[in-house]
Amino acid sequence: MAKIMMKMPLVELDGDEMTRILWQKIKDELLKPYVELKTEYYDLGLPAREATQDQVTVDAANAIAKYGVGVKCATITPNAQRVEEYKLSRMWKSPNGTLRAILDGTVFRTPIVVNNIRPVVRTWTRPITIARHAYGDIYKATEYRVPERGKAELVFTNDAGEVTFRETVYEFECPGVLQGSYNKDSSIYSFAHACFQYALTLKQDLWFSAKDTISKQYDHRFKDIFAELYEKEYKTKFETAGIRYRYMLIDSAVAGLMQCSGGVLWACKNYDGDVMSDMVSSAFGSLAMMTSVLVSPDGKYEYEAAHGTVQDHYYRHLKGERTSTNPVATVFAWTGALRQRGTMDGLPELCAFADRLEQACLSTIEDGVMTGDIAPLCDTPVEAVDTDTFFAAVRARLDALMQA
Ligand code: NAP
Ligand code: MG
Repeated sequence: MAKIMMKMPLVELDGDEMTRILWQKIKDELLKPYVELKTEYYDLGLPAREATQDQVTVDAANAIAKYGVGVKCATITPNAQRVEEYKLSRMWKSPNGTLRAILDGTVFRTPIVVNNIRPVVRTWTRPITIARHAYGDIYKATEYRVPERGKAELVFTNDAGEVTFRETVYEFECPGVLQGSYNKDSSIYSFAHACFQYALTLKQDLWFSAKDTISKQYDHRFKDIFAELYEKEYKTKFETAGIRYRYMLIDSAVAGLMQCSGGVLWACKNYDGDVMSDMVSSAFGSLAMMTSVLVSPDGKYEYEAAHGTVQDHYYRHLKGERTSTNPVATVFAWTGALRQRGTMDGLPELCAFADRLEQACLSTIEDGVMTGDIAPLCDTPVEAVDTDTFFAAVRARLDALMQA
């Protein structure tokens, strides 16, 4: 069988520990036999970040901005223990934080759904994707523990030094607490663009939720920006794609979610997204079955697994023990990136390959062959297999699908 050719390169960001082992196996066993892989390779493994003083992370982000699509392996975010372990000259910042900042991106998380691991919410038959606006609100708030009676005010002084707004927040008759939070139009526009773009990629309805009935300036501004962009730039595209945009109050979005069958993209403000993404992922099962995409407002995509480097499995692997590590979310990062590359470059055969590889993973699990993280969640109890056995089972199914 002739290998599938690529036109433009995929930006490949290698990583650390057990996921680095999986990364190589995915390429060797599941991709390279079928695709003439064309990647621009960046090693984001911690030793290479140290050797380049983290320049490699910046270069990788710029390459994604240039080529439009990247795929990333999980990486270590250094802490004090890692500084010691890897003899680092500095506690390098989280690579994901650097990528997000350079690409001005929004992170979307989607569970991988199989028919023998049922979500806790019975009505959910299709995945629910959550977008979190990871900027501002309580995460950048200024807080004060009010110790005594007194007056709290909200004051705005413009660059010219004039006070253009002053309002009493509360006249404290006893001790209490106080918080000042903010957000920026530019950040909200970027978030909204990324959400509209990704809804079009997924061909799924987009919900954006807030509480504008109570928060008549703050949350209302979010609502207005989404509405403005939708009318100006996305309405026709959504209609052509047969999808809908809906603004919902956060409480009715939560209620609506419990009643729906899934297959929606839910855009949340920062705190709502923090809480709801954990709710949705735990209701669907395992972190190892969760994918994540960083989308920039101008439509650049970086795909990865939501889980980390699975450190404890790596140490066992180094001791020569067999592990039962789930590669599915990392495989789906590759398939997501290859499909996006295929869509952008007009290569339907590359998209079809991505579909088949995903199908091979899903049918492996649905046939009862699965790793230790999800075996206990399965409808009928199954014995977990080790990493190599799982790879071989996926490969066999992929071979069959490719020959069909
Ligand atoms: P983790 O790597 O996600 O692993 C936490 C636990 O979840 C594992 O010990 C394992 O449980 C289970 N697990 C996660 N993925 C699995 C998989 N594919 N197959 C089987 N089990 C899986 O999180 P962590 O231990 O908190 O972090 C380890 C390192 O990853 C840290 O250095 C952190 O900085 C980094 N990290 C990176 C990213 C990223 O690059 N996006 C995200 C998160 C964390 P059992 O031990 O019970 O088997
Ligand atoms: Mg959280």
